[in-house]
Amino acid sequence: MAFSLKDYDVEIAEAMERELRRQQTGLEMIPSENFVSEAVLKAMGSILTNKYSEGYSHKRYYGGNEFIDQVEDIAIERAKKAFNVEHVNVQPYSGSPANLAVYMATCKPGDTIMGLNLTDGGHLTHGWKVSASAIFYRSVPYHAKPDGYVDFEELRKLALEHKPKLIWCGATAYPREIEFDKFAEIADEVGAYLAADIAHISGLIIGGAHKSPAEYAHIITTTTHKTLRGPRGGIIMVTRKGVEKDPELATKINKAVFPGLQGGPHDHTTAAIAIALGEALKPEFREYTAQIVKNSRALAESLKNNGIKLVTDGTDNHLLLIDLTPFGKGKGLFVQDALDLAGITVNKNTIPAEPSSPFYPSGIRLGTPALTTRGMKEAEMETIGSWIAEIIKNVTKYEMPDDKEQRRAAIDRFKTEIKDNKKVQRIRKKVGRLCKSFPLYKKMKL
Ligand SMILES: *Cc1c(COP(=O)(O)O)cnc(C)c1O
Repeated sequence: MAFSLKDYDVEIAEAMERELRRQQTGLEMIPSENFVSEAVLKAMGSILTNKYSEGYSHKRYYGGNEFIDQVEDIAIERAKKAFNVEHVNVQPYSGSPANLAVYMATCKPGDTIMGLNLTDGGHLTHGWKVSASAIFYRSVPYHAKPDGYVDFEELRKLALEHKPKLIWCGATAYPREIEFDKFAEIADEVGAYLAADIAHISGLIIGGAHKSPAEYAHIITTTTHKTLRGPRGGIIMVTRKGVEKDPELATKINKAVFPGLQGGPHDHTTAAIAIALGEALKPEFREYTAQIVKNSRALAESLKNNGIKLVTDGTDNHLLLIDLTPFGKGKGLFVQDALDLAGITVNKNTIPAEPSSPFYPSGIRLGTPALTTRGMKEAEMETIGSWIAEIIKNVTKYEMPDDKEQRRAAIDRFKTEIKDNKKVQRIRKKVGRLCKSFPLYKKMKL
């Protein structure tokens, strides 16, 4: 008999079992999430977590790292092949620490940096005011135009004026292709490092469903748990162009990760990253990423046909941003919660020229990587799009007041009423039936 966590720690096992059931019976549409393979899970839950291996392969501070070195070397080789880069560091604990290491490697505290503004689709770590990236560096954000696309004219003007050390491209809520060539032109013109943060799209890039930044950026960072479909982790890469700009760049990156920011690497995660990269280098992964984009486009069509407005009017990648402003401002929370009750998991999100705030935004971000992993295709997307539209139209009568007290009351009233909403309940049942036809982790035992 295999070891059962349930017999050992029933409290935590039962919470985990409920989460497993939630994942199996609902539609996971948060575009930064995915379902990893059993092989990735196996490596994550392995004895590699026991080891300390501060330092880098063949230059460790502790003994006993012979086999850990093999694991890390394989991960690095696979990443080099997958992304066509010169240098790879697989030790960052996640995407945010990876980005912080890029700052440490390229800037001094107080230096000027530029990134896409958070409420226009950028990431916290690209210079948003509450993040270390804006507290320790001087952040000059660039923006999206009202149509949702990056405003390159503004970016160039700001870059010429402020002469940043580092410019970030890449985003967390951007439904269109990242135009690496245009960013490179501006970064090169002002002599800045260009860092491409491909956290969301790294899987698409390996699979050929999105252009690669390898010939345009000096540095590339990514998470490993989004479209790449690996464990939670981060990778930093230096391109050939990066080495040409600064022959010390790879060393600087390594020193920034360890000992600059981190201690011992998570070797079990490194093994799981290697496995995920191995999976991503297989031909099936190309089909997977192509299907992600096909599904995303089919979902966009379905939503539009059902009267829902999208930022940029569509998508080139794995995600869509619904613009709820035709129904009023600040209604993302209502839609997110109603969809949650229907078994459809998405997140509320700001939209370009957000009329409300990041806490009560006017958009919904959703995507197809996880559903595509389950095997769903265009036909399912069409159905799901119509369900989402139905729910949106069902809750847009709720207004989100600006006044704090009134807002509290409005949210409370919504939460009470939505539980008994018949339409939401009917769609919840249909979602359950659809999920049964696309089983997930069928034989999993906790
Ligand atoms: C998700 C994301 C990150 C951060 O990843 P964490 O692992 O959550 O720290 C960084 N940059 C972008 C663009 C992201 O989308």
